[in-house]
Amino acid sequence: MSLKNILTSDRPVVSFELFPPKSDAGVDDLMKNVGELAELSPDFYTCTYGAGGSTRDRTLDVTRRVREQTSTPTASHLTCVGSTRDELRGYLKRAQEAGVDYIVALRGDPPKGEETFQAVEGGLSYANELVELIKADFPEFGILVAGYPEVHQEAPSAEVDLENLVRKVNAGADAIVTQLFYSNDDFFRFREKCEAAGITIPILPGLLPVLSLKQVQRIAGLCKAKLPTTFVERLSQQDSPEWQFQVGVEHAIAQAEGLVAAGIPGIHFYVLNKVTATQQILSAVPQLGRQTV
Ligand SMILES: Cc1cc2nc3c(=O)[nH]c(=O)nc-3n(C[C@H](O)[C@H](O)[C@H](O)COP(=O)(O)OP(=O)(O)OC[C@H]3O[C@@H](n4cnc5c(N)ncnc54)[C@H](O)[C@@H]3O)c2cc1C
Repeated sequence: MSLKNILTSDRPVVSFELFPPKSDAGVDDLMKNVGELAELSPDFYTCTYGAGGSTRDRTLDVTRRVREQTSTPTASHLTCVGSTRDELRGYLKRAQEAGVDYIVALRGDPPKGEETFQAVEGGLSYANELVELIKADFPEFGILVAGYPEVHQEAPSAEVDLENLVRKVNAGADAIVTQLFYSNDDFFRFREKCEAAGITIPILPGLLPVLSLKQVQRIAGLCKAKLPTTFVERLSQQDSPEWQFQVGVEHAIAQAEGLVAAGIPGIHFYVLNKVTATQQILSAVPQLGRQTV
């Protein structure tokens, strides 16, 4: 189904983000988990794209296998890192052949050890250019782009970041998926600013259920997401993995309920190849469960 059609559904869309495991055995394990995730009937899956060449092949392998196993639309993430325009076209062609439906079009982070992003010769500098390339040469792909409720870490201001987001939308993006956040107010402020800037395409908030305090501190540190003090205090109350998992799931349920009540068009879950947390969240928020709607 086309991305536009999915996004005009009258119930909130649910998407699951996977990452490509490092080994073939890891991909086999992931496919078992995808079997369980499929029972939650997501509207589409996405698979991230790493900087290294082998990870890229695995992204296509995972998207192809998920598509075949679940008959559900899949999106490949794609970044501009280290690729010329022709190499990006080559990947998009292979993605098309692998049955990929949508592309999450990204610039990507600077490679390890480098402070700023540098386009390679013949490559692209920003995600809006990648959206333009896809629209021009592969118009059949649905396109998602990234949005930052807490402002992208390299942007000099929220206003400049928003202007850049508008550029991606004007280039032809169909929807925005946000960076993870732990305070819904950050998302609501971002959504208001997007609306004021004339953005009308759907904005899917990205939720990463916390699985442990250590994990979330690492990830939130990487993408500079704020962790509310009360949430961290509660997570820290007990050092047991079961406690931290449960507090993380409760927080994600509260976030999902608040977002659904505020009329979001859907939620993008950073499932990180795991099943249980997302199962619990979806069964606690009936609007996101597929059987009941
Ligand atoms: C949903 C989601 C999925 C992701 N998946 C992946 C993945 O699979 N692989 C991966 O490596 N990374 C991934 N990332 C991380 C992403 O690559 C980084 O956040 C990266 O630093 C920015 O990518 P972008 O597409 O948002 O870049 P852009 O939109 O190009 O923005 C990058 C920076 O440049 C600024 N900017 C943009 N356009 C212009 C312009 N024309 N002039 C001046 N400044 C400009 C922006 O304000 C921003 O500060 C993901 C992020 C999100 C939110």
